[in-house]
Amino acid sequence: MCAAAAAAAAPVPADAAVPSALGAVPLAAPGKTTLAFVGIGIMGHAMAANLLKAGYDVVVWNRSPERCQPLVDAGARLAATPADAARTASIVFGMLADPPAALAVATGPEGVAAGMSPGKGYVDASTVDAATSAAVAAAVRAAGGLFLEAPVSGSKGPAEQGQLVFLTAGDAALFAASAPALEVMGKASLYLGGAADGAVGAGAAMKLVVNQIMGTTMAALAEGLALASACGLAQGDVLRVASLGAVACPMFALKGPAMAERRYAPAAFPLKHQLKDLRLSLEQGAALGLGGAGGGGQGVAEAALAAFARAEELGRGDDDFSAVLEAVLLHQQGAE
Ligand code: NAP
Repeated sequence: MCAAAAAAAAPVPADAAVPSALGAVPLAAPGKTTLAFVGIGIMGHAMAANLLKAGYDVVVWNRSPERCQPLVDAGARLAATPADAARTASIVFGMLADPPAALAVATGPEGVAAGMSPGKGYVDASTVDAATSAAVAAAVRAAGGLFLEAPVSGSKGPAEQGQLVFLTAGDAALFAASAPALEVMGKASLYLGGAADGAVGAGAAMKLVVNQIMGTTMAALAEGLALASACGLAQGDVLRVASLGAVACPMFALKGPAMAERRYAPAAFPLKHQLKDLRLSLEQGAALGLGGAGGGGQGVAEAALAAFARAEELGRGDDDFSAVLEAVLLHQQGAE
């Protein structure tokens, strides 16, 4: 099923609970429901801030607790562990860096699953592979909770503006119960999973597909800008010509001007995460028998992966992913 489900579409009374075979999770309602947020990085901070602004009681946890302070100053409560956050809240949201982080925070000794019980749910918005998502789902469900994978399309700006797009799969009852909160953080929520059995993986797969396209597109822009430089063309002129034709792209308009000035900080989307997403998407393709470089099936993405990997080796991992331009420039100059 690939149905766009507007969060506001289901007219459920504010104090209702959304039933499932595993138990009822209260419908998220500002002023009534305690929500938790674990993983207060670039995205998690913006998303949790919007929940607070909407009037939710919000409990926050981050590995580096100092990153929670601005949210605590804005009214959030600090949890000592992810398990404590889950014990306090009815729905926990997670936004962790990568598969090891998502697994550690969800399934570790004081992880989210350790604080789960029937009537609670975990919505993991981290970009991970389907196997990680399944492992987190299993741990949460073993503790009696519901699970929804919900990676997002949209970067720091859309996160701050509440304009993310959630790509979800898992327990449909949790999708329904968390819908009002998803609506606060995003402009659309797609339920891509199997409602009947709560299967996960489709949200993770969709997110990796989108970020494979994004990474290859960014690498292509970087190569074009580098080629234009070599031709003696002004970067601004290249961006303008691209904007007027069939290759016009919001990402070029957003990232191009800073790339023309070789400015990559502060990062909206750290390069290390784009590299991780390309690795995961290529693994996803390989597991399905798609060929890599030379085989045609994933060759463009493999080339992009190599460019992002070179950029990380240049120390650009914490810069914005547009810093792949630096690796392309060096490569074209034969300076490696
Ligand atoms: P970020 O600023 O680097 O934040 C990463 C978060 O993960 C931090 O809270 C970090 O905690 C935590 N973390 C990392 N390793 C951990 C570990 N081993 N145990 C516990 N916590 C750990 O990244 P972000 O940009 O917010 O991205 C978060 C997720 O969203 C990633 O999966 C990313 O791919 C995805 N995403 C990002 C964007 C974007 O534009 N930024 C857009 C869509 C999706 P510390 O503060 O302690 O390091």
